[in-house]
Amino acid sequence: MNRRAKKDLIRILISAILLMLAILSPVNGWFRSTAFLLPYLLVGYDILWKAVRNILHGHVFDENFLMVIATVGAFAIDEYPEAVFVMLFYQVGEWFQRLAVGKSRRSIASLMDIRPDYANLLRDGALCKVSPEEVAIGDLICVNPGEKIPLDGVITDGSSSLSTSALTGESLPCDVSIGDEVASGSVNISGVLTVRVSRPFTESTVVKILELVESATENKAKSEQFISKFARYYTPVVVLSAAVLAIVPPLFFNGDWAEWLHRALIFLVVSCPCALVISVPLTFFGGIGGASKKGILIKGANHLETLAKANTVVFDKTGTLTKGEFSIVSIDSPVLPAQELLSLAAAVEQFSSHPIAKAICNSAAIVPARDKVTHVEEVAGHGIKGAVDHQVICVGNRKLMQSCGFQPQEANRSTTQIHLCDDRQYLGVIHLSDTVKEGVNDTVSTLRGLGISQIVMLTGDRQEIASQVAEELQLDAYHAQLLPADKVAYMTELTKSKKRNTVVFVGDGMNDAPVLARSDVGIAMGGIGSDAAIEAADVVLMDDDLCKVPQAIGRSRRTLRIVRQNIAFALGVKLLVMMLAAFGHAFMWQAVFADVGVSVIAIFNAMRALK
Ligand code: ADP
Ligand code: MG
Repeated sequence: MNRRAKKDLIRILISAILLMLAILSPVNGWFRSTAFLLPYLLVGYDILWKAVRNILHGHVFDENFLMVIATVGAFAIDEYPEAVFVMLFYQVGEWFQRLAVGKSRRSIASLMDIRPDYANLLRDGALCKVSPEEVAIGDLICVNPGEKIPLDGVITDGSSSLSTSALTGESLPCDVSIGDEVASGSVNISGVLTVRVSRPFTESTVVKILELVESATENKAKSEQFISKFARYYTPVVVLSAAVLAIVPPLFFNGDWAEWLHRALIFLVVSCPCALVISVPLTFFGGIGGASKKGILIKGANHLETLAKANTVVFDKTGTLTKGEFSIVSIDSPVLPAQELLSLAAAVEQFSSHPIAKAICNSAAIVPARDKVTHVEEVAGHGIKGAVDHQVICVGNRKLMQSCGFQPQEANRSTTQIHLCDDRQYLGVIHLSDTVKEGVNDTVSTLRGLGISQIVMLTGDRQEIASQVAEELQLDAYHAQLLPADKVAYMTELTKSKKRNTVVFVGDGMNDAPVLARSDVGIAMGGIGSDAAIEAADVVLMDDDLCKVPQAIGRSRRTLRIVRQNIAFALGVKLLVMMLAAFGHAFMWQAVFADVGVSVIAIFNAMRALK
């Protein structure tokens, strides 16, 4: 409990005692009202002040205002104890509410406790503790066991195992040694590591994740907007109905003024919309926080809401459904030895981060020095061009060869075929193969279990390979040989179609940022990967484990279910007590209880979204 909570609790207790004394003391008249006014002002002065301040600012109809007219009204009809009771009760409820909200906010904050506080900078052979912002690219830092890795970099000395659970939700530690890349925010478990920093702190993984999560709460979901709009109309309507309730029966139907005024006041107290105003945003906050603990970063409540409605999931193939770790099957060249062809390809491909490029560079025995290659240009969905020793070399698929004026024969094999040519002749072809990721079959069936009616694959790769993968995974449809622009066109058609699809696109971030942006919900995998994809995506998965896709959909549905439960529950109870009040069957304390009780229950329900 913090200091504010303690102070409030003491204030409530003293007011309660004063109220008891006032009830027990035998004074009358002027003394009596003062005796009750004292605890009333002590417990309610902040509410009175807030109500006055809000009225001055033009926000007349809020919960403070409702409490003030209800209690002042009770004083006016000589119901002194009741007026104090109501304010006291309301403050007790508020107190519990703040406690619950504070608790859930703290548990989300601790989930996000990945920001490193310092780095051990290695300078002239000595270590000094500096803040991570002060470390520059190329500096060496030392990370001891138990410390967080403060900046992204490459290990130059030592080996260890790292826990990335705060980043990716992956619970198994991974082993790293010299030459491996490490991401900031992961925790060093066993050995001492020396790391050469590769990115400044402001661009590091950990800062990007924190920025994502912090901005997530700014994107309001439709149901959240609905609640604030709802409150804007609801409160005046309630105040008006209360006025009608107080005036009409005594004026036209011979009712008792005090009795109907009393009913109207109870009606007002119960109508406070605070349960909804607090619990709905809190539920979304909890849903987003809980998901981020599992390595699923959702960029806003609006995306969470759309994700819950998803009925179509579109996957990119390379790197998403397949491992994206190509291996070379065979090399055919009419003019060059195989190894030379591979070196030539690697010369250009070393400038690309495409999985095909990586495989070619890893298999080549000799990769020519980077400064021998100039005029490098990557053509998305086609391949890459560059001048090696002033000789233009093109590496890519059949489409790229055609644009260079060659018509290579495609071998009738289910391999990815990458051709080479220079500006005079066709040089040969490299056959590569990639395998489907483990567990993708399970992911597909889990998605079907969630009622996803259409699962589609898009790829820039060849027809033969696409059909083979689609068959292996029993997908509903596939589209091959697409350029990035074709993928966008397909996505546009799908999202705009009359069938009201809600389309999720899942990609690895290679060449697919535009598609991610075009879909209803774009999910980028491997959050440590491409910046453009992280920017364009609505959901970022911290690793490339596909089972997080159904998990994300499941979680968002659960969160939305809790939101609906809270709305239905709060409105239901309120409506009931409002009716009771109108017919004279409710007491003021029941009304307050209905109001704060519902709020507290709704908040505890909201916190389930974290789990
Ligand atoms: P996918 O849709 O399967 O993820 P991409 O859009 O990334 O595929 O690429 C489509 C095709 O373009 C690849 O199958 C390959 O033939 C070719 N390609 C793209 N980039 C390169 C590259 N750097 N080197 C060679 N070929 C490439
Ligand atoms: Mg791709």
